[in-house]
Amino acid sequence: MSIASDPACLFCKIVAGELPAEQLYEDGEILAFKDINPQAPFHGLLIPKKHIATLNELEAADADLVGRLFLAAQSLAREHGLPGYRVVVNTNSEGGQVVFHVHMHMLGGRQMKPGLG
Ligand code: 5GP
Ligand code: ZN
Repeated sequence: MSIASDPACLFCKIVAGELPAEQLYEDGEILAFKDINPQAPFHGLLIPKKHIATLNELEAADADLVGRLFLAAQSLAREHGLPGYRVVVNTNSEGGQVVFHVHMHMLGGRQMKPGLG
């Protein structure tokens, strides 16, 4: 099965193995790897392998994929012994998105303040 990919996209290059990343999780449709500039002792990025630029490009047919991104986060939390963690999906530049391949940040390993500040 071929996966929709954008050759100019950083995270597609990671999926293709053209750029290195410290892998945390992989299945047929999802890849998770460590953020290169961690904001917490545990900072993972969970992505669909297929290229989807932002949360706004998700379609109803992707609902299962999105659900499995959350389940992958849950499984990583168990594996890494994280009692609590935060997931964030920055959307578009106004939302702080820099890499336009949809990704879920997963932050843990330190005490998070309530709310987002
Ligand atoms: P955004 O601001 O788009 O939500 O987050 C993009 C994230 O990707 C940032 O936290 C940044 O540190 C991370 N990042 C950018 N380039 C690379 C890279 O080449 N490798 C990895 N592992 N993370 C990256
Ligand atoms: Zn991509």
